[in-house]
Amino acid sequence: MANTDKSGKSKKRLAAAKELNRVVTEHYMACARAKSEGKPVGWMPPMNGAIEIFYALDLQPLFPENWSPVCAAFGLAPRNFEVAESLGYSRDLCGYLRNIIGYVHGPMMEESTPLGPLPEPDILVSPGGGCVPVMKIFHALERRFPDARVFKADLPQVAVEDIREHHIEYAISEISRLIKFLTETTGRKMDYDRLKEVVRLSDQACALWDEIMTYRRHVPTPFSAAEIGIMFVMVTLQGTQTAVDFLTSVRDEVKHRTEAGIGVIGDEKIRLFWDNIPLWYNMGLFNYFENLGGVFVAETYSAAWSLRLDADRPIEALAIKSLMSYPLVSCVSVKKRVEKVVDACRAYAIDGAVLHRNKSCAPITLGQMDIKRALERELGIPSVIIDADHMDARNFSAAQFQARVDPFMELLLERKGTR
Ligand code: SF4
Repeated sequence: MANTDKSGKSKKRLAAAKELNRVVTEHYMACARAKSEGKPVGWMPPMNGAIEIFYALDLQPLFPENWSPVCAAFGLAPRNFEVAESLGYSRDLCGYLRNIIGYVHGPMMEESTPLGPLPEPDILVSPGGGCVPVMKIFHALERRFPDARVFKADLPQVAVEDIREHHIEYAISEISRLIKFLTETTGRKMDYDRLKEVVRLSDQACALWDEIMTYRRHVPTPFSAAEIGIMFVMVTLQGTQTAVDFLTSVRDEVKHRTEAGIGVIGDEKIRLFWDNIPLWYNMGLFNYFENLGGVFVAETYSAAWSLRLDADRPIEALAIKSLMSYPLVSCVSVKKRVEKVVDACRAYAIDGAVLHRNKSCAPITLGQMDIKRALERELGIPSVIIDADHMDARNFSAAQFQARVDPFMELLLERKGTR
């Protein structure tokens, strides 16, 4: 049995993985430093267009949703769940929600943890869009940190394909309202040339992200989902030179591996697609497939960063981002979701799909049976459903996982005639 324990770290092949550790550490050190230097710290949901405004105003953004995978990777999540459950939060709720609520009511005050403790928020950007759990996280944070100034963001919950001009106009007014709130709250002035520069860096990061993902279309693929932690910079550092420099080094390495024909494993037999969020506490699960000749060359999550921004029209660019980036992953119609997965499986020459039925995340799990049927019908691609949870290891059974995955991989190998 390999890598199916509940705390496996993934085996990394990219040299950039080491650099990523440094970037993660520095980000959380910057958060702590900001607080001690009197720079206002704002907690917010990711992918919403606010990050660029914070960096342009030299404020420190911090993302509770990002802190949760960090806790899972460091084995801190079980203690946070214990605290959240003792407060009455059900085990059926999103793991990100239970983790952050448990953390702010427990370990944040009582213990020193790796990369922590997080600095308390001076500002909360409380979303009125995205999924319900992400909104509820911020309602709970408002109660936990009553001194924080709260910006109640209001955005229409609209599917990507239904976004119209009036939605964009409304989002523009919301971005302008956020700038007004932040400048009044902190006494800082917005330098619009600086904002353009930040949006330009954000767009550059998106372009690099797309380029990196495109190299994965090659056979053999230069890197797998086991290294998808590189998205850290897209969550926390979009709009900074740090993100652009890091992604440039990843791009160069991935390009070199592609040109030199260096794959993730010596003999890539099966190309796999992963649907839903990875198991952050057990990224080593991806390596389990590698032992059977399979490599994950594409996944749903990476689509969230495939969005270009027009730096000459920064407010409009951020407004569009605020409407689109969440829906690209979690608030998309089933029809669009199916279409996107089928397109990705075609583009990346996928042989089989693993659909993670995520107990913690109903929004991203919704529509998986439709995906399964569409892949079979349109591309003749088989898929397997595995039951797990992106945060809570108690909802993952290694035995059940193997009972489903092993015959599935045998089937795929037989179809390819490579057994
Ligand atoms: S999209 Fe899923 S994982 Fe993310 S906050 Fe919502 S329920 Fe949780």
